[in-house]
Amino acid sequence: MVMMMAPGGTREMCRLVLDEGADAVYVGVVGWSRRGAEHELSDDEIRHVIDDAQARGREVRVVVNTLPSSTEIPMFLDRIQQYAGWGARGFMISDVGCMRLVKTLLPDVAVHTSVGCGVTNFEDVRFLRDNGATHVVLPYRMTVEEIAEIKQKTGVGIEVFLFKTPSGGKICPGKCMMSSYFSYRRWLDETGKDHFYGSASRGGDCLRVCQSEWDFGPDDAFIRHGMTIKTNPALWLDELPAYLAAGVDCLKVPGRDRSDLLVRDIVRFYRRVLDRIQESDNPDLSGFREPLLVFHQRWKVERGIRDNRLIGEAEREARRVEREQVSAKNFEVVI
Ligand code: SF4
Repeated sequence: MVMMMAPGGTREMCRLVLDEGADAVYVGVVGWSRRGAEHELSDDEIRHVIDDAQARGREVRVVVNTLPSSTEIPMFLDRIQQYAGWGARGFMISDVGCMRLVKTLLPDVAVHTSVGCGVTNFEDVRFLRDNGATHVVLPYRMTVEEIAEIKQKTGVGIEVFLFKTPSGGKICPGKCMMSSYFSYRRWLDETGKDHFYGSASRGGDCLRVCQSEWDFGPDDAFIRHGMTIKTNPALWLDELPAYLAAGVDCLKVPGRDRSDLLVRDIVRFYRRVLDRIQESDNPDLSGFREPLLVFHQRWKVERGIRDNRLIGEAEREARRVEREQVSAKNFEVVI
């Protein structure tokens, strides 16, 4: 049976997706996941979500997919042990060294790689499996044939997003660091944990600078394309039976940073789709196509709002830094 994992960007979202039949919910820890704090949960909230999921016979995956520094590793392991002690059944991790440590310390938990691992082929997957990963998440753009080959060659749990980029995009998900070059700030909290603004890999939200307008062209012939770098992925449907036949073990619904109600409706939709697929050898999914188009629209509207907010924040931050640099320069001149 394939596991449907749904996002838990808020406590309410967790409750709703479990109501709608998600097999597992994934929640980010404040400061330790690749999302901004408003889409992560406090320890108290995580504990409640685990209790709620356990009471319904479902599971929780805790997202700790930043790249911890050496000084943060003891803190990272303490947290993992705490969540596992509360009943979390798995973790989503980017750092390969930490994956290995977690698997050694807690051999029974599921270790999912994060999109931050930037997998591109079956050798990457083998490497992650050999270092403790029980489930490897594959990038959106892989074909069903590539997925089947990876499953067959590695035997590892395969996780895919219910999300696809039809035209591929210019960037390998998980290997992009543009945001932190664009705008970046760092501070320490009272526990000694580093927090970052602008770096998803270190726990600040990505500022989605790939969605700004960029100009492309060879140096000697400047051509204004005004294109975005990353193609926006969209929810998909018709390929699902083939993906399940290829050996996919987990389907991941995206959307920790979307509204609770949109995520609730998407989970309800995919629960029905999966039930239909699993009850028939030749499922008819045609009745689901129209509702899917409505989700595309709702997703696009919420994405626009989010991207504008993040890009606007990044631009304001960049202007603030520029002003500070100018006034520091003026000060030098006066001295
Ligand atoms: S800037 Fe775009 S491609 Fe890069 S990490 Fe952020 S969302 Fe991904």
